[in-house]
Amino acid sequence: MAYRWETPTSVWLEDETNGQFALQATDGLQHIDWQAHARGRLPDVAHLLGASLPTSCGCAAIYPEGFAFCPTCGRPLEKLFGRTRVQGDWWGAYGDQLLPRHVPHGLPVTSMALGDSLEERPAAPAIGRAELSMPVPPNAHSVFAASNYGFPEPRLLALAPVRGVLQYWDPLAQLWHVMAAESPGSELRFASSQYGWLPAMNPARGEVGVVPTEAGLVRLWINPVNESYHTEMLVSGHIASSPGLMRRRVGCLCVIEGALHLLDADAGFSSGENYECPGAPTSGWMRPIGYDNRLFWLHQQGQLAWRPGEAPRWRPWPRGWTPKLEFGGPTQSRDGRLWHIGHDGQAYSFLELGADNPQVEPIDGARLGFANLLFRRGHPVLDEPWSAEHVEDVNEDDSLVLPLLRSFNNNRSQPSGLVLRFHKYTGRAEEALAGRTIPRTTIEWIGKRNVILDDISRLARPLECVPFVYDGALWLHHPDWNAMRGWRLEELS
Ligand SMILES: [Zn+2]
Repeated sequence: MAYRWETPTSVWLEDETNGQFALQATDGLQHIDWQAHARGRLPDVAHLLGASLPTSCGCAAIYPEGFAFCPTCGRPLEKLFGRTRVQGDWWGAYGDQLLPRHVPHGLPVTSMALGDSLEERPAAPAIGRAELSMPVPPNAHSVFAASNYGFPEPRLLALAPVRGVLQYWDPLAQLWHVMAAESPGSELRFASSQYGWLPAMNPARGEVGVVPTEAGLVRLWINPVNESYHTEMLVSGHIASSPGLMRRRVGCLCVIEGALHLLDADAGFSSGENYECPGAPTSGWMRPIGYDNRLFWLHQQGQLAWRPGEAPRWRPWPRGWTPKLEFGGPTQSRDGRLWHIGHDGQAYSFLELGADNPQVEPIDGARLGFANLLFRRGHPVLDEPWSAEHVEDVNEDDSLVLPLLRSFNNNRSQPSGLVLRFHKYTGRAEEALAGRTIPRTTIEWIGKRNVILDDISRLARPLECVPFVYDGALWLHHPDWNAMRGWRLEELS
């Protein structure tokens, strides 16, 4: 016999033979296979549901939401109901929704004040070390999101888009779990262009956001109790890029009858229309950048710009000019225009974006970065993107700096952020970013004070480094590493 308990959000059955509680149903989560999945994960599940856990008795492993005392022996329980823990959401370095409008959206720029905490550490030349460690997810080529998804506590997700695998970090068990699709049609694979998602702003329980897949744009829902997910088709079809959001309109590139189109939909996907983009390629797009009321999709062959309410414009790059997309991303000049670095066969230059007759500014060497966090070898570039670099220490001629993440801070005149510094590297930037193994790299915070966060030997493919913020710490992941490195952020925790 089982006794049925109903709480405002869930239904539980109490087995009268042993006093154990089993979850039957809970708001927002479609399937509950309690016996098969939840046994090893009860602490995590209790935190997600706001259920209760035993503290001093062994009568049951978990209790329904709101229980303050064990019904069998009367001892007190840990009552998690009503406890909410919120921290800044992380939707990928490119996914910050809180940046002001004059900062380009869609680049690795965060509005979190990371510097205030990281700059408390001993300044360079002191060499620090990561003090936290987390195992890498089973599918290491992943993008990360940390948010509440409608639950009382934030959780970390790692999505491997090329394989279509969704992974969930159980912080109480300290384990990654691969989430299973609740139906066979829930395909998450998307490999034709750079990956990016649109987070849900006021999520219902389990709601993650809108993600591109090879079958169309879908809304993704997770069920951490069951370690599963499901998707809801919003726009079915051949999707050619990650979606972008501008002035409450969603723009996404798609392929219709072999030709590229731009899908323009309202934020709820209740209505939309398609624009033809004649001559534009059908795959290989960078994720969109939002700036100046326009969305920009960059491609090796050209740029597509769209202002909601108008037809999109595809512009191939000028003849002979090739963008260096791997160098970072667009950067701003002092007058607010956007520029991208490239090469015309003779020399590097910056090309103005979104203009019919773009201005070109020649430069004498590679510059790595984006959004005004820009470096020429080991020196920052502070004024215009094409200005001479700011040389503080001539020894940095022998190093090469690769910016990973800018921290936007209105109160600072100079950009600050997370970078990699390749030491004693005088080769070409292209080779450092491709296959070459770099003997010594330091992970550094550039700000009011420069801080060396860690020192790593033998790094290859540095562009695969993924920074993220979760659980009051800054983390850095690389698919070659056994563990992710973390640094505590005191005031964010
Ligand atoms: Zn008890």
